[in-house]
Amino acid sequence: MKEFDYVIIGGGCAGLSLAYELEINNRLNDKTLAIIENRKDYKRDKTWSFWKVFDHNFHDCVIKSWNNFTINTSESSYELTNKKFPYQSIDSGKFYNKINSKLSTNSNVSFYNNLNEIKSENSIIFNSVFEKRLDKSNLWQHFQGIEIETPMKIFDEEIINLMDFNCDQKNDVHFFYTLPFSKNKALVETTWLSDLEDQSLMDYDLQLENYIKNNLGIKNYKINFTEKGAIPLFHPSLRNDNKVINIGSAGGMTRLSTGYTFLNIQEHSKYIVKNIDKIDKVKTFNIGKKYQFLDKVFLRVLEKHPEKMPKIFFNMFKTSSNTIIKFLSNKSNLIEDMNIISKMPKLIFFKALFN
Ligand SMILES: Cc1cc2nc3c(=O)[nH]c(=O)nc-3n(C[C@H](O)[C@H](O)[C@H](O)COP(=O)(O)OP(=O)(O)OC[C@H]3O[C@@H](n4cnc5c(N)ncnc54)[C@H](O)[C@@H]3O)c2cc1C
Repeated sequence: MKEFDYVIIGGGCAGLSLAYELEINNRLNDKTLAIIENRKDYKRDKTWSFWKVFDHNFHDCVIKSWNNFTINTSESSYELTNKKFPYQSIDSGKFYNKINSKLSTNSNVSFYNNLNEIKSENSIIFNSVFEKRLDKSNLWQHFQGIEIETPMKIFDEEIINLMDFNCDQKNDVHFFYTLPFSKNKALVETTWLSDLEDQSLMDYDLQLENYIKNNLGIKNYKINFTEKGAIPLFHPSLRNDNKVINIGSAGGMTRLSTGYTFLNIQEHSKYIVKNIDKIDKVKTFNIGKKYQFLDKVFLRVLEKHPEKMPKIFFNMFKTSSNTIIKFLSNKSNLIEDMNIISKMPKLIFFKALFN
């Protein structure tokens, strides 16, 4: 059996991002890498969106960038503009193609289906796979999105609707998300923040159909692409030691209050490659203890008071666009944090703090 210097378990977003970062920094010229991936083929399966608060390697995979976004409740709508940090969407199909084409030019990189096919005792292992049977009674962000195409030009392609709470909440937290890629093409997503036990929240097709018809006023459209997912809003507990370094969602790269992960994965990949020669000695990368703590309190409030969340989210955005974007992208300073915290209802957050 062949032996490798590096092994990446899971060739998805985090595994491939790390492999690409190693490759473009010439770290695979004299080292070998095995990627363990069990999917049969790579095709578009996700749309990764985020505020571009720093440069990344995938500009050529961006479907569209926006500078304007809105957030709605049943009572009000609020619009924000930001030219410095555009919101971007990445086509995962293009991302997989780009990375796999690049890696295929290096004979030091090999793909396998199973870890048992190689010898890995002496390898540095990066793991992005975790047990999918996680606790369903815990909090999840679960959703389904469809990219629709209409015969008429109906979307305002300059503005995204980040959260539209003007929909049935069913004692949980529910919103729709609309990303107009052009005047006649948009990704529309129904998103729930809840446990995974209530099946009645999962008739996503019907939710999307009703929203598109009744809220967006669109009767005639075709569906080009569907994506579906459930992101745990808790970190899976996995072994993190000198030999196995967890990356991606398995490595705690998901911001628990929002589900944003993509850009954190990019930052983590850069950190690993920068420190690759002493990776067993440097401290474990995390998205910031401050955000982990604040998100924990936020999710406690969300679990206890789901009915208050549309207003809480709405008020959070009633600050400067730089402040909210930096906060949601883990790049805020103390003054910006205080600004966001001051928008929260004091008593229930105070109680959640001591819960
Ligand atoms: C539909 C969807 C949309 C999302 N949208 C956004 C977004 O807009 N913005 C954002 O920031 N985040 C988003 N996320 C969250 C996050 O960015 C993604 O989940 C991202 O793909 C996480 O990267 P990862 O490498 O940890 O996991 P994955 O990309 O899922 O990679 C894990 C890989 O491991 C493979 N694998 C699994 N089990 C095994 C096994 N036993 N052996 C070998 N291989 C295995 C899988 O096939 C997969 O390729 C989204 C998630 C989903 C599901």
